Amino acid sequence: MIDVLVIGGGNAALCAALMAREAGASVLLLEAAPREWRGGNSQHTRNLRCMHDAPQDVLVEAYPEEEYWQDLLKVTGGLTDERLARLAIRASSTCRDWMRSHGVHFQPPLSGALHVARTNAFFMGGGKALVNAYFRSAEALGVKVRYNAPVDAIEMDGDRFKAARIGSERIEARSCVLAAGGFESNRAWLREAWGQNADGDWPADNFLIRGTRFNMGVLLKFMIEAGADAIGDPSQSHCVAIDARAPLYDGGICTRVDCVSLGVMLNRNAARFYDEGEDFWPKRYAIWGRLVAQQPGQIGYSIIDAKAVGRFMPPVFPGVRANTLPELARQLGLDEATFMRTIADYNAACRVGTFDHTVLDDCHTEGITPAKTHWARPIDTAPFFGYALRPGITFTYLGLKVNEHAAVHFGGKPSANLFVAGEMMAGNVLGKGYTAGVGMAIGTAFGRIAGTQAAAAALGRPCHNVFQEKQHATS
Ligand SMILES: Cc1cc2nc3c(=O)[nH]c(=O)nc-3n(C[C@H](O)[C@H](O)[C@H](O)COP(=O)(O)OP(=O)(O)OC[C@H]3O[C@@H](n4cnc5c(N)ncnc54)[C@H](O)[C@@H]3O)c2cc1C
Repeated sequence: MIDVLVIGGGNAALCAALMAREAGASVLLLEAAPREWRGGNSQHTRNLRCMHDAPQDVLVEAYPEEEYWQDLLKVTGGLTDERLARLAIRASSTCRDWMRSHGVHFQPPLSGALHVARTNAFFMGGGKALVNAYFRSAEALGVKVRYNAPVDAIEMDGDRFKAARIGSERIEARSCVLAAGGFESNRAWLREAWGQNADGDWPADNFLIRGTRFNMGVLLKFMIEAGADAIGDPSQSHCVAIDARAPLYDGGICTRVDCVSLGVMLNRNAARFYDEGEDFWPKRYAIWGRLVAQQPGQIGYSIIDAKAVGRFMPPVFPGVRANTLPELARQLGLDEATFMRTIADYNAACRVGTFDHTVLDDCHTEGITPAKTHWARPIDTAPFFGYALRPGITFTYLGLKVNEHAAVHFGGKPSANLFVAGEMMAGNVLGKGYTAGVGMAIGTAFGRIAGTQAAAAALGRPCHNVFQEKQHATS
């Protein structure tokens, strides 16, 4: 019988598989996707948010634990477990050497990245290179990998894992790590979670999925129905406003449109609906998907003028371009008179000070609702550009409740041999909101913990604080 069964093929699963194997366990990893689509959402990532007290290789200055924690506290509005959050934060300061030992390379951010040179370490070659390196290392160490292996059921004996099932096939193991992502690819479940709005729309029908099509939440649902303790609200997710022309799945990072803070955002009725200059883009960009989801028809329009060009990462799809504002309104299909009134009101309300997109500057509006509190400059210089944006779901936050050993809980009691990592438990730390690079920080920390614990459970070794011991051993 195999010692440790790991279900999933993304960052959390691979971290778990590698740690379990390093601890001496035999490991089988089951990935739902075919080999060419392996790696889940992790293949689309770019960076990891890292705590550091002083400059460290690719990271400049310092990003101490307390600042990281305060950033997380702010974006989650307190919907976070401080103990688990701090565990992930601390783990982010020491994991890079271990990642390098499995072939992951880091680089400083290129220009156009979102104010994150201090806080985030970028993967050379992006998430695709990271998962490829981990798969290579895992296979070299003897981890067995099966593709096209979507697990559809888990067999339990009380709170103990017994076996996983793929159709009629039964795979036994001494312990198991669930790392099969959220339910973001499951459009029916998204529809149910978001429900119907007052206009009779089903908002989720207009969502696009930024990542993999394989995170259907099958095991999340199975485990919750089997009595595992859940955490989080099914309608909470990382949800970004992305180009409305993006594909339904796997559009990835390049469909994001980063100019919202440089202009105004309108809804289908050509009205503004939120402060576009509330905070720096990396901290606030994840709120815009949800804001657009709450607008009629789940569509928004980011409007900028020539002054914004060159100040944000060029999106993959060119914007709609016009030499006059009425022409832009017509091309976007927005009511011209309302559009012109909205822009005129906004322009008249702008109090331009010293424009500086790298700080929370003093360019703001006065006398309009909603206000634009920073980077407010009139939209008055041709050519003008408009981007139609839709909610793009990155990952959902409903997950399984864990303790610091990543154990799945049943009625408040931790399982002795079933563990969970990554998106399947990120909701313990992320009740809502997001700050760039935290997804991989949580997945790396808890993937490593889950793998270590699963190996200990399988090999009959007591393991109370193995992760910390391991950290010291490898740092
Ligand atoms: C476009 C995009 C960009 C992102 N950029 C960043 C970033 O730069 N930094 C950051 O921190 N986070 C980023 N994220 C979020 C990040 O991807 C996730 O937080 C992280 O990858 C989660 O890792 P995971 O292993 O839990 O899930 P995934 O990487 O999604 O892996 C889940 C795996 O489970 C498999 N699976 C699903 N169901 C089953 C089943 N029933 N049986 C077997 N296997 C199954 C899937 O095929 C997949 O391999 C980004 C996400 C997207 C979509």
